[in-house]
Amino acid sequence: MDLVVKNGTIVTASDTYQADIGVQDERIVQIGQGLDAGGAARVIDARGKYVIPGGIDPHSHLDTPSMGTYMSDDYLTGTIAAACGGTTSIINFCFQEKGKSIHDSLEHYHPRAKGRAVVDYGFHGMISDYNDAVAREITSLPEAGVTSIKLFMAYRGALMVDDRTLVQTLDQASRAGILVMVHAENGDAADLMQQRLMAEGKRDPKYHAVSRPPRVEAEATGRAAALAEVVGVPIYFVHVSCEEAVEEIRRARVRGVRAMGETCTHYLYFTEDDLDRPGFEGAKWVYTPPARKAHQPPALWHALANGDLILVASDHCSFNFKGQKELGLGDFTKIPNGAPGIEERLMGVYQGVVEGKIGLNRWVDLVSTTAAKTFGLYPRKGTIAVGSDADLVIWDPNAELKVTQSALHQNVDYTLYEGRTFRGVPQIVTLRGQVIVENRQHVGPPGTGRFLARTRWGA
Ligand SMILES: [Zn+2]
Repeated sequence: MDLVVKNGTIVTASDTYQADIGVQDERIVQIGQGLDAGGAARVIDARGKYVIPGGIDPHSHLDTPSMGTYMSDDYLTGTIAAACGGTTSIINFCFQEKGKSIHDSLEHYHPRAKGRAVVDYGFHGMISDYNDAVAREITSLPEAGVTSIKLFMAYRGALMVDDRTLVQTLDQASRAGILVMVHAENGDAADLMQQRLMAEGKRDPKYHAVSRPPRVEAEATGRAAALAEVVGVPIYFVHVSCEEAVEEIRRARVRGVRAMGETCTHYLYFTEDDLDRPGFEGAKWVYTPPARKAHQPPALWHALANGDLILVASDHCSFNFKGQKELGLGDFTKIPNGAPGIEERLMGVYQGVVEGKIGLNRWVDLVSTTAAKTFGLYPRKGTIAVGSDADLVIWDPNAELKVTQSALHQNVDYTLYEGRTFRGVPQIVTLRGQVIVENRQHVGPPGTGRFLARTRWGA
């Protein structure tokens, strides 16, 4: 065998048990007690550790232009950070440039990832310039291994689509086996609020939250869920940030709509107060939807525990504070929207286990298994089972990491979690049986990641 992981406690979304894992030709070929490791090329002793399926982050942005600048992480630095945080698969958004097709955007991103990414990667289509040609090409995306597509109800005048486009795409894409993902915020209301605040001289980062309050998100969430209901298709809400939006998802589900919502790690930790940090520092917390009031993070933990929200993504979207976030000095509407978090995600969500908010198996579900099931990767990814890819994380539940920017691997000059101590740390990470992280450091060459052609929704 190529690899044997011995003496660990295997944790999946459903079970916790002691067993050894045998790996050959990139896959798990044996699970059992007392496996013979003789002759194995590599043996890892996982005594006292958890062995979990590699994390799957279905919402990241790498190597992409945005708001007049360019993200600081590319496919090499972003995926090294992902790996060091215990994530072995990502699904990244392929930005559609004006005048280009969705297939053009895939062609643009393939060479940026290939030979560079160190974890496996899939792509989401993204509609930012809708027209008849785009409408026609959508149904052919599954042939390119792309089975999800995102639309924006926010960013008026830039990315925002109207309701006709939304309902038509929901109808057409879903029938082709493509899951439609929606950024749900009322772009008209947010735009009006931004203009009003700026006219009143309210220009600091904290007004980002004032300009797009929870009802802006909840209104669009309820509307999109209703449109999905009208045409009888599923819908997936990215970065749900508040209980008002969760309530809309819950109401839709009660009516029988297959409405699914993710949240992101930062919504579990930060509030509007972080946007109001002294000087311009709050700009680090400018992401969309914004950080909310202090009662919201506990409500989101609750929604994760009870199933109203199905997973936690990073929405990793890194811009340096110096020179990039600073583009919005004196005008919060010009601060590039987004924050890093691809490396902190598994540890951030694990604190919910430490603090008794979620169970151990639910944690694995939230950071790996449900993403695999939702985005056409299961059971190849997202579990520990014979036949699955040997993407494994050896997780030390007793180790602690004091988070600092320099202790992380993202190519960006800050972390939102600076100074926090996380309990529970990924120590060794394998991708298809190959060790890519050891003692929290990336080992191995660039380009170990492969493109993930995903199966159709419902397949
Ligand atoms: Zn995003």
